[in-house]
Amino acid sequence: MRIILLGAQGSGKGTQAKMLVKEFGIPHISTGDMLRKNVSDETPLGLEIKELMSQGFLVPEDIIIKMTLERLTLPDTKNGFVLDGYPRTLLQAQELDNFLLDLDLQYKVGESDTVVVSLDIDDEIALKRLLKRFEQEQRSDDNEASIRRRLEQHHANFKDILDFYKDQDILVSIKATEHDTPDIVYNRIKDALLKLGVL
Ligand code: AMP
Repeated sequence: MRIILLGAQGSGKGTQAKMLVKEFGIPHISTGDMLRKNVSDETPLGLEIKELMSQGFLVPEDIIIKMTLERLTLPDTKNGFVLDGYPRTLLQAQELDNFLLDLDLQYKVGESDTVVVSLDIDDEIALKRLLKRFEQEQRSDDNEASIRRRLEQHHANFKDILDFYKDQDILVSIKATEHDTPDIVYNRIKDALLKLGVL
């Protein structure tokens, strides 16, 4: 089962991804985690993107597309994956699509096991959560200016990405409110996957 998990930062994407990979035994591919590892290991890539990331800008398309698609060719993705943090632009979605088509996958609900799950949450709640995470984890890109920039960027690109997947009929939108626990949201995702026939 291949799950492409969409949602603004602070939507609970990371938490839901962890729950999915635990239950289904597929790898969690988080582009943010991969990039942060490069930064902390001070790889050439890490040094190149460190500043951009800490200010909340997207890293350049060629870098992120290459890194993600290379990761998806590793053998542990054979039975699926949860992709978290990618795509963030229409180009990224298109490149992923081409890549998966090359793997001869069918993007049709009920016929394939690829599904796009979008977690929908109000900006104010996302902002509140991200500021709290900043206090707790001191992640360098969780300052308020950077958070607002990332949320703006999210909205600038998100509609195009959603339309792209809507046209392909593989999108499910899951509403999450401030009061929903991770378990409640997780059950909604699983219900949707069941209805789509991918579980
Ligand atoms: P995340 O952990 O998903 O919130 O990502 C943290 C940061 O990594 C983002 O603010 C971007 O700077 C960078 N990043 C992660 N995924 C992508 C992507 N798909 N495209 C561009 N930049 C990304």
